[in-house]
Amino acid sequence: MKETVAVLGAGTMGRGIAQVAAMAGHTVWLYDPYPAALEKSLGEIRADLQKMVEKGRWQNPVEELLGRIQTTQALEDCARADLVIEAAPEKLELKQELLGKLSELNPQNILATNTSTFSITAIAAKVKHPERVLGLHFFNPAQRMRLVEVVGGLETAPALLERMLHWMQAWGKEPVKVVDAPGFLVNRVARPFYGEALRLYGEGTPKEHIDWIMRGLGFPMGPFELMDLIGLDVNYAASSSVYQSFYGEPRYRPHPLQYQRVAAGMLGRKTGQGWYRYPPGPPPLPDPPPTQAQELPLPIIIGPNPLAKELRARFRHTENVAEARFVLDCRVMLERKHDFFENLPVVSLVWGHSASSVQGEFRGRAVAGFSLVPPIGEKAIVELFAPLSGVNEALKLAQSYFTAHGHTTLLLPDQPGGVGFRILALLINEAVSALAEGVAGPDDLNRAMRLGTGYPLGPLEWAERIWLKPVLRALEGLHAELGEDRYRPHPLLRRMVAAGLETFGDLSRAFTLGDLQTRTVKEAT
Ligand code: NAD
Repeated sequence: MKETVAVLGAGTMGRGIAQVAAMAGHTVWLYDPYPAALEKSLGEIRADLQKMVEKGRWQNPVEELLGRIQTTQALEDCARADLVIEAAPEKLELKQELLGKLSELNPQNILATNTSTFSITAIAAKVKHPERVLGLHFFNPAQRMRLVEVVGGLETAPALLERMLHWMQAWGKEPVKVVDAPGFLVNRVARPFYGEALRLYGEGTPKEHIDWIMRGLGFPMGPFELMDLIGLDVNYAASSSVYQSFYGEPRYRPHPLQYQRVAAGMLGRKTGQGWYRYPPGPPPLPDPPPTQAQELPLPIIIGPNPLAKELRARFRHTENVAEARFVLDCRVMLERKHDFFENLPVVSLVWGHSASSVQGEFRGRAVAGFSLVPPIGEKAIVELFAPLSGVNEALKLAQSYFTAHGHTTLLLPDQPGGVGFRILALLINEAVSALAEGVAGPDDLNRAMRLGTGYPLGPLEWAERIWLKPVLRALEGLHAELGEDRYRPHPLLRRMVAAGLETFGDLSRAFTLGDLQTRTVKEAT
């Protein structure tokens, strides 16, 4: 006989979770104080299942499954369930009250919350036998998204977490074990995707360009179109919550432009206007230019890193100075960009500094900035930057060179980091901070970000691909030129580079993660 499951709250998340549990063969109590919410929810579950049947993704009779879901307005009915999953509105007192009441009615059942922002420990504080409380953080839509964050509070029994990991697997999910920290894993590590995009926009980079560049990097959506989909109010609430929970840590600070749109009621698709107007919605990614066999200005490509290697492997270039028309300098550190190949125009990577800063190193020479992030896909957009001293020959050479290779180029306002790299570097730095704090292990972290957000690569695997050292040096450069704490490289990244570690796997073998997670568990017992 399968366990009975109760779901509290029959809204967006509750109905998805109830459907998943019923599909896994459980009898489900679906509780909501509002009969209309229960009715609507059942209708939506039926419609979703019918769609699944049409697509061949569900073979069993829909009515049989619906027969396993019993709706109720009486909390007492839910008390008999073996597993209770609370998905009521995001209010701490309400969640404490609901789970607290249930804990009085049944001293034994498992009490889970789907909260996105509250501490599991704080919710458990109002529950009898708090060792049976945990977070089961599903993603929207719960019936499709495979990721579930299984979150242990300070008092959660370790054996319960292991049991729930297996349980979620049996539901066809991909659970990851996460510790109870603000934003848990995915909502925290993803913050710079929005926060840094808003910064760049605030500094003058067009939002459409930011969205196109991120799509060109392989992200399923750009940050602005994604905020429009999620709802600007929901996204702003998540940003504010993580910022407050970390007591005003500057790197999580929400952006005033975000608040402004929310205050204006421009909440995204649901109100017909967010960052874009609907219809027509965001402008589509421009088609790449046709590859031309025209005469190509050949560069000498400089640098040892994976970007330089990939460019040398896939882009035409020369090793012969006499033949070269310009220098494509992929080195990250500004200090390394001393004068060389006299008189050739320089197109310099901007990961750690602006094009204007590079111009300062090459007085009197034609200088432009560029950014591209490996792995370079067919749709990758090449970001180009002119120093504040003005557009020059170097920029024109870079434009014709990358266009001839079939890549769209965008001329952007000069700033250090570029768009795609600056956002990625901060995602990596945030992932390293979550790792250092033992929020999750490196493999789980990468998997969770791919599954929960659709990122093409986990941030830590991406860092390994582009090498940790250039990421660190670029962050140091960003920190120096922008002068803000949010760009400070995490000390763990610094230590890893100093110790010559190249992968996060080396790190877990060396020590920390197990220790950190054990520490959290030990403190809990
Ligand atoms: P929702 O507003 O769609 O649904 C909430 C439901 O709770 C409604 O049906 C409402 O009638 C019901 N409700 C109201 N008062 C209640 C009470 N006293 N007891 C029980 N139910 C009550 O909200 P949602 O988006 O489904 O979010 C639910 C929870 O899931 C929140 O904690 C939220 O943070 C979390 N969450 C949401 C998402 C998301 O993308 N929507 C993702 C992950 C987690």
